[in-house]
Amino acid sequence: MGPDGRGRRILVVEDNPKNLKLVRDLLAYRGHAVLEASDGISGVETALRERPDLILMDIQLPGMDGIEATRRLKSDERTSSIPVLAVTAHVMRNELRKIRQAGFDGYVTKPIHTSEFLRLVEQVLRLERADAPERGERSPAEAAGGAAGLGGTILVVDDEERNRRLAEATLAPFGYRIRHAAGGEEAIEEIEKRPPDLVLLDLMMPGMDGLEVTRRLRERKETRHLPIILLTAFADADRRLKGIEAGVDDFIAKPFDRLELTTRIHSLIRISHYRTQIADYKRSEAILAGIGEGVVLLDGDWRVEIINKAASSFLDLPVENARGANLLDHLFGNRTVKADRAALVDHAREEARFEIHRPETALCALSVLEASLRRIREPGGGVSSMILTMRDVTRRWNENRLQEDFLSSVSHKLKTPLSVITANAESFLYGYYGDISEDQREAVTDVARAAQDLLSHVNKLLAFVSPESFRKDDVQPESVSLFLDTYAVNLVHEFRDREVRFETSTDPAAAEMWIPAHKVGIVLDNLVENGVKFANGDGAEIRIAARLDGADHVEFSVRDNGPGIPPEVQDRVFDKFYQVEKYHTGTVAGSGLGLSLARRIVEEMGGRIWLDSRLGGGSTFFFTAPCEPPPDETP
Ligand code: ADP
Repeated sequence: MGPDGRGRRILVVEDNPKNLKLVRDLLAYRGHAVLEASDGISGVETALRERPDLILMDIQLPGMDGIEATRRLKSDERTSSIPVLAVTAHVMRNELRKIRQAGFDGYVTKPIHTSEFLRLVEQVLRLERADAPERGERSPAEAAGGAAGLGGTILVVDDEERNRRLAEATLAPFGYRIRHAAGGEEAIEEIEKRPPDLVLLDLMMPGMDGLEVTRRLRERKETRHLPIILLTAFADADRRLKGIEAGVDDFIAKPFDRLELTTRIHSLIRISHYRTQIADYKRSEAILAGIGEGVVLLDGDWRVEIINKAASSFLDLPVENARGANLLDHLFGNRTVKADRAALVDHAREEARFEIHRPETALCALSVLEASLRRIREPGGGVSSMILTMRDVTRRWNENRLQEDFLSSVSHKLKTPLSVITANAESFLYGYYGDISEDQREAVTDVARAAQDLLSHVNKLLAFVSPESFRKDDVQPESVSLFLDTYAVNLVHEFRDREVRFETSTDPAAAEMWIPAHKVGIVLDNLVENGVKFANGDGAEIRIAARLDGADHVEFSVRDNGPGIPPEVQDRVFDKFYQVEKYHTGTVAGSGLGLSLARRIVEEMGGRIWLDSRLGGGSTFFFTAPCEPPPDETP
């Protein structure tokens, strides 16, 4: 399709059926209509008859070759204004001259590079239309967006302003940005300020001449590889030799030929671009090889482009087999990936962190990798590549598990004596062992309370280190209203000896929804306990509310009239072992585990947890839990 949304008519003169098919398919894909001819004579005839918008002319054709055919087209006024692009395998210097003399408007080299080919074709079509004044469109320079797709900045160095303007007029339409320098010294200054992508340098200039500029540039590391084209009126062998010695990349005779100049510049910039890419690639490969983290560079479809040694050994993917392999298939085929596959291929997400496990077998040890995926975007926003980094955290993981096993067994052992203390203390309080004095009652009450507190800590710890202990219980979902009613009754009972006011409210839309009540209960326990604790026990007011959040979540909130949480620590209170008081008052007892446990459970349910709090204005904690409508009870 043309840039204006209309396809163009393009005549392809080509005798090789394979090439013809490729070109035809490419052009058709872009919405252009393709006319075909397989030799020079029928090419000319078709062009005369059909007057296409563009002709692509193979050079080597049976009978009349492409050069001759084009010469005829360009000398016939009925076809002379139709642009003709040469399609040729080799562009030797003498062939380039012939192409130019025949009147071609540009050339494409075989094998065809798909995107560059299409860009050139459309560039020529746009240039032609830009000449036609009635279509007020973008200038060719804007439309071209970089000749051969690369663009770049060119510094034109010439003491004559007219020559600089001429070069600019020739190159700007191809999307190059042009900067000027009127002499050697100025050129060096300009380049030091900001190196261009290419320098077009006049040889003869007053003061520092082109050769001297080249020598100076080659001496400096930053400009050693900067592409330089020397413009010279006398390109004799001696001068060329001197130029080559100084480090010039190419020569162009003055006055320059438009086609030759642009062609040489396109190709030099392209070579330089690839040279930089290769250098960058080699540098990054060398860096990557030496580091202990696993690094894989992937394309947007998860295919491996570069993999370093560490990653290759982490994933049992030999470097030589890795290139081009789909890493996602490899991971999901050979490992346990702690992430959703659909989420990993979702380009809308910038980053992903997940664990990769290789379970223990008779033949290999457990391996746990901590992986992080980052997407790299092109200026247009598309994902050009992705970087996956991996760290071996097996040791830490094992240590954590040992620690958790230990804590879990200690907690279990503590629970038994604690229940003995609580039960016996209660027996005293209820008078099973006869009457006790007021002093004794007070003392035993303290014992019972302390044991109760200790038990609550131990339970919290247990839930934290082995979440399985509460997961198993959670088989019975309940409706929100039923759950909250029972919950409120229990609260009142639990805090019967404190002056705490509870209030619960349920939005009718949420009331009948079923929720994983057990987990919601544990989360609420922790939030309510904090609310009571931080509102200094007596005089605390706790409001629990539930409302529908979207179609499939219920949002719970727990509000207190306590001191509030300083804004700067609000996002840390959910961290393990974090306690604000440690850094503030140091007075309130706690473990720093409650909120971290709450977050863990909420996230496991697929919900979110957050808070809203102002110093002196109380705190409200919110969390969401999944819900579903009650099961249909009609038989
Ligand atoms: P802790 O066992 O210390 O209560 P949590 O993880 O439950 O541990 O809470 C972490 C910290 O967050 C607490 O130490 C406290 O500083 C702060 N915090 C939690 N809830 C409240 C609240 N309702 N009001 C004020 N501060 C709170």
